[in-house]
Amino acid sequence: MELTLKNVSFSYNPDAKEPKYAVKDVSFTIRDGEFCALIGHTGSGKSTLVQFLNGLMEPTSGEVLFNGENIFGKKYPLKTLRQKVGLVFQYPEHQLFEETILKDICFGPKNMGLPKEEQLTRARHAMELVGLPESYEEKSPFELSGGEKRRVAIAGVLAMSPECLILDEPTAGLDPAGRDDILGTVRELSDQEGIAVVLVSHSMEDVAVYAERLLVMNSGTLVYDDTPRNVFRHYKELEEIGLSAPQITYVAHALKEKGFDIDDSVMTIAEAKAEILRIFRERNS
Ligand code: ADP
Repeated sequence: MELTLKNVSFSYNPDAKEPKYAVKDVSFTIRDGEFCALIGHTGSGKSTLVQFLNGLMEPTSGEVLFNGENIFGKKYPLKTLRQKVGLVFQYPEHQLFEETILKDICFGPKNMGLPKEEQLTRARHAMELVGLPESYEEKSPFELSGGEKRRVAIAGVLAMSPECLILDEPTAGLDPAGRDDILGTVRELSDQEGIAVVLVSHSMEDVAVYAERLLVMNSGTLVYDDTPRNVFRHYKELEEIGLSAPQITYVAHALKEKGFDIDDSVMTIAEAKAEILRIFRERNS
């Protein structure tokens, strides 16, 4: 799977005298199994951008290519593309509506015209992937906790066997344990099932732990496309565009300034812990 944005721009008022661009000349390619996070200040163009990826919105200029084919070309099967590139919106639980969880998750496969047996097989597999036990099949989606509802919504998209999963802030409104659960599950989907993931996030802590690649938007342009570690080296530039490095990176910088020989590119608590223990060990030996 290869999903490419090629010099994509978009304006909500393209015919105005001075059109304002929500997305400006953005290019990147996402491949199988990659875990990418998309970050940027509110209004930087993230939501607009992700809607290009499954053809919900057409760019004003530039191309969106799925396995090399222009998805806005004549006769391109956009419906099939939307199964292969699954989009999970913010607060996806608002889109749950069937009376049982199993029926809700079957909705996508049913819509694809798959036979009943196949719908059920896929729905059950999707439940397993997101860690929902079999005993939940006949429960109403409305009886569940916030985190469980979100799992059902994600399973509904997974039941269509997507090759790429786009999640717009999937952890918004969840408590820390619920957040780690969901992100851990998504990471497993990417590692074990080879599904490419694009995670829209506001949490630098989360993207540092889970993402392999960071796409950073500012005022409609893509300003960084690199590993989280390399991006967070630019923490001063990130601050200028309303972002930051993870808190723990600042702690490491402060320790370094105080004369500790710490690697100040650490970006997770686990990395910082290892560094601090190493420093103590070396001091005591
Ligand atoms: P983000 O998801 O990063 O918050 P958006 O893609 O929602 O950014 O917004 C990018 C820019 O486009 C912002 O300036 C926003 O005000 C504008 N915008 C978003 N949606 C619309 C819309 N439906 N009509 C007009 N302007 C919009």
